Amino acid sequence: MSDAGAAETLFERIIAGEIPADVVYQDDSTFAFRDINPQARVHVLVVPRKRYRNVGELAEGDPELLSRVLLTARKVAEIEGIAESGYRVVFNTDADAGQTVFHVHAHVLGGEQLGLFGK
Ligand code: IMP
Repeated sequence: MSDAGAAETLFERIIAGEIPADVVYQDDSTFAFRDINPQARVHVLVVPRKRYRNVGELAEGDPELLSRVLLTARKVAEIEGIAESGYRVVFNTDADAGQTVFHVHAHVLGGEQLGLFGK
């Protein structure tokens, strides 16, 4: 289910250009910009322009748009020169995963050897 009726999130303001961002790539359905607090040498957020709360709701509500988010993640990896060396795509979902912005976004991480999953 789309969260369209809920209060505007930070990422909608970034997409609208109201808050500056270091934009890496954008097209008609997705928007990609550098994370303000990078957790790896490359750390880019990929956001669908249409808001869903999390990746599960996006998958259920618009699987085509989820596919576009993942294709933009690959495009970002190519732009950043990490498509060959490898990268990680992460969707945090709700409190225990540390989701803080409730407009679904993929973290694209790479540019160095990444640590294992966990705490
Ligand atoms: P989450 O914790 O998975 O919801 O990811 C939210 C991400 O947004 C965090 O990694 C933050 O560092 C990042 N973030 C918060 N504010 C900004 C901003 O203004 N520009 C870019 N990234 C931001």
